[in-house]
Amino acid sequence: MGRGGDDALLSDLLDNAARGNRCWWLVPEPYSHATERLLAERGGPSVCLCAEVLTFRRLCDHILAAGGGLASPVLDAGGRLLLMRRALRSAAGQMKVLNVLAAKPGFLPGLIQALDECKCYGVTPRDLERAGGDKLCDLALIFSAYEMFCERGPMDPRDRVTLAWQKMKDARFGENARIYVSHFASFTPQERLLLTSLRDRAASFTVLFHGELMERGFAPLHITARQLSSVDSEQLTVNSGENGRSDALRHMEKHWFDRKPPPFPSGMDGAVELYAAPGEAAEVRFVAERAILLVRDEGYRWRDVAVIASDYAAYGPLIGSLFTQYRIPLFSDQMDDMAQKPLSRCIRAAADCVLYGWREADVMRLLRTGLLPVSSSDADLFEHYLRRWNPRGSRFSGERDWERSLGGWHGEPAEAEQEALARINRLRRHIVSALKPLSVGKTARQCAAGLRGALEMLGVPEGIGARVRALTEAGELKLAGECGQMWELFGKSLDQCVGLLGDEAVEYAEFCELCLLVLSGYTVGSIPASLDRVHAGDQSRFPRVPFPVVIYIGASSEKVPARPVGEGLISGEERAALAEAGCELPPDPPARIGRELYNLYTACTLPSRKLILTYPAARGGSAADDGRADCVRRLSSVFDLPVRPVPPPSLPLAPAPVSRDPLSGRCAAMLYGDTLRLSASRVETFAQCPFLYFCRYGLRAERRPEPGFTPLDVGRELHAILEQCARYALERGGFAALPREELCFYAETQAKARQEIVLRRGGVGTPRLLAQGLRLARVSSVLAGRLWDEFSHSRFTPLDFELRVESPAAPLRGLSDGAPSAYQLRGVADRVDGFRKGDTLYLRVVDYKTSARGKSFSLSDIYNGLSAQMPLYLFLLCRGAPERFGVPKAEAAGVLYVQTRDILLSPGAKHSGLLLDDPELLEAMDDRLRQDGGTLPVGFNKDGSFSKRASVASPEQMARLQDHVARLVRDTARAVAGGRVEAAPLDLRDAPCDWCDCRAACHFDETLDKPRPYLR
Ligand code: SF4
Repeated sequence: MGRGGDDALLSDLLDNAARGNRCWWLVPEPYSHATERLLAERGGPSVCLCAEVLTFRRLCDHILAAGGGLASPVLDAGGRLLLMRRALRSAAGQMKVLNVLAAKPGFLPGLIQALDECKCYGVTPRDLERAGGDKLCDLALIFSAYEMFCERGPMDPRDRVTLAWQKMKDARFGENARIYVSHFASFTPQERLLLTSLRDRAASFTVLFHGELMERGFAPLHITARQLSSVDSEQLTVNSGENGRSDALRHMEKHWFDRKPPPFPSGMDGAVELYAAPGEAAEVRFVAERAILLVRDEGYRWRDVAVIASDYAAYGPLIGSLFTQYRIPLFSDQMDDMAQKPLSRCIRAAADCVLYGWREADVMRLLRTGLLPVSSSDADLFEHYLRRWNPRGSRFSGERDWERSLGGWHGEPAEAEQEALARINRLRRHIVSALKPLSVGKTARQCAAGLRGALEMLGVPEGIGARVRALTEAGELKLAGECGQMWELFGKSLDQCVGLLGDEAVEYAEFCELCLLVLSGYTVGSIPASLDRVHAGDQSRFPRVPFPVVIYIGASSEKVPARPVGEGLISGEERAALAEAGCELPPDPPARIGRELYNLYTACTLPSRKLILTYPAARGGSAADDGRADCVRRLSSVFDLPVRPVPPPSLPLAPAPVSRDPLSGRCAAMLYGDTLRLSASRVETFAQCPFLYFCRYGLRAERRPEPGFTPLDVGRELHAILEQCARYALERGGFAALPREELCFYAETQAKARQEIVLRRGGVGTPRLLAQGLRLARVSSVLAGRLWDEFSHSRFTPLDFELRVESPAAPLRGLSDGAPSAYQLRGVADRVDGFRKGDTLYLRVVDYKTSARGKSFSLSDIYNGLSAQMPLYLFLLCRGAPERFGVPKAEAAGVLYVQTRDILLSPGAKHSGLLLDDPELLEAMDDRLRQDGGTLPVGFNKDGSFSKRASVASPEQMARLQDHVARLVRDTARAVAGGRVEAAPLDLRDAPCDWCDCRAACHFDETLDKPRPYLR
């Protein structure tokens, strides 16, 4: 065979057609389109008058049209499943071992597969029974019932070949025809019977084998040839040798099986290339880039490139996604299973919503199918509420409107939230009213009506229409074509269910499962939107047409040859028992592997100019054992070809031109306002990554809310309780006048009381929430004790908790037209303490770090723009102290970070921070300073000087720190207002990209974007 074989066969066929002889060319289904094109190209328009390309399906159609039976209704894939279900039920009472599986719809596809094997190989229920064994007897019962139902109703499609063979006996079909058969590696007994009958009456009967494979004793073809030799056909074996093909590739094909082929004079490198990639994604990316380079630099067209995957099911999604990102036009004739389509997901999600009490995941799966006319902002809002409050069961489907705040556990919904809540409630009522009737159906007919009504009420048909329009406008014609078929196939599957199950009693959950099974029996595909596209597909069904370049992807030992996936419902022993009883069943695993190797060979001998093989190398493997398939190993050693590592990506993915150029001034002002509002955390976010800042504060992309008490909720609660504790202590004459235990008890009681209010407001008390409440009470008590320890030894007093600070607006000059013209710093300080000395108020700002990831004070962090919150607020407060605190002047005494985690682990843990190096002031902060430093991060040497570890700063150093943070804010404001949005994360050990929410949006690409160094 090979194109040399095709040429010889085609010449003979065209000669006969030119003489007016009727010619049929029989090929496997995946080759039919390419063969028709070849015939039309070489034979011209008139060739179709005498010659025709057939598959077994079309051949049967012709025979039945001539002999009768074409009009008989035939079950489609969905109908077969339903009929099998009925057969299974009718046999249920008599079965011995399969009874337990009878109620599971998921068992049906396995039964259909076993039935297919039996039908194709002519194994009857009686044969199964004869072979013995409980399971085979059960299968015989089921298949007998199935046959009985088929006799009364539509025919099974597998019976059409048998029927066609029977009809051929009576009809004069095929007399004097010239029949050509090619590209088959094997035939089923059913097909062989049909071929025998055709041979007997045809004027000539030509079967084309691959000459080189036959010569080399390739087992699968020899088996087929032996089987066909009984047909007594003319056997034509043709070796490759066509013109226009690279000599190197011809040499490779000729010596594919040789141990020591003669060397190719000019070397094979260039015609055959072998590559190892560090993984599947890198492999596909390399293939995409190589396809671009072939077109850009070597003059190929997209249609000249074929990408053949050893396992397209595994590689297909990667190929689809990366080729789209590289904007490579792609065509794949893989038919997609309807089960993978959004409509199937929509049906399953709708059923699960009702079945499992409106779980958040099911509801959101439904809303996110993209088939409901629900805007993404409404879906986001809905998800936000569901995640925050998790209303399930009757709280979801009940009459009462949802009224809780989207902001979380604290406070009632704000005025601005009412509109959002109204939208959420409208959507909830709409979903519930559409889906609730689903559970009412008691028969298949009622369930079908209920399911169709529910989807119609949800607006799915309109949603599909809108999606088709959107995909068409986006140029995704293939997807649009597939999407357009979904509703029709759904209607067809419902009709099948009603037609075959009618008024049979069925639960709605089972009905939805059956409907999905029936749908999964259908596939959707479409005609390529344009001809100039890279053709990608699986090696087992790739059309055998000439391609100048073939890139074979996935040539790993794991995938080539593909391992058989289990043995199906009929085990190896049962196959052996059947063989003993004289019944043949499909090939056993070794024979299947032979067929896989045949596919590999035909794929690799397809190109005329260039063959590229790639494989994902196993991690840690040696050069000899790195997961490459035998074919790569052989090509490398026999033809002396190097295996190269794939080069690093050099071309940008299509979305990458996502320009990281600065935004225009006008655009920045539209996003951030004319006066830029900054806070310490915003400054820190910008320092972490400008793109992250742009997403969070420009686009206002929100993190998905977490259920229960979030760390933010915990922090807020703790601050409120500590504030209450401070007030309580001051009302009773100060901390020293109050027993420590009393304050701890007070904090715990307050925490519990607040928790009660929260739980009452929430109307729930999940175990997790209750546990979180108990923990909060314990932490509050410990922190209150710590507060007592600090202030009973201190002359500083707490001045305020959760204190809002704000700087006056400062102008921004020298930016482009329309850019923000001013900036302002705002924020909230957790706690502010003060100590009056003369007419100066010394201020200290304290920050409570309640999260597990809370960091300690670090000057390097502040230098790089991180953790500058406390110094910023401290200097702002000092500047505004006369108005705020009514003092002539204020000085910075320092900042302290209270790590709740450290205090819980070790009650005596010191705070971190930076304090003024004034011993008198420090003693005012903690009178235990000279003993053990108390809670302050300060220690002394024996001579009374500060130890090396003391975290103190002179007034001059404090002033420099103040200058630095002021400059930091100013620079950040200028950069933000100047429109900087580059993805440039700070190079931290705790890499921001690892936990960044915007990772999916930024397309951070090492080749384009560089992390910024962290300066120490
Ligand atoms: S993932 Fe990294 S580069 Fe991308 S936005 Fe987040 S921090 Fe910036």
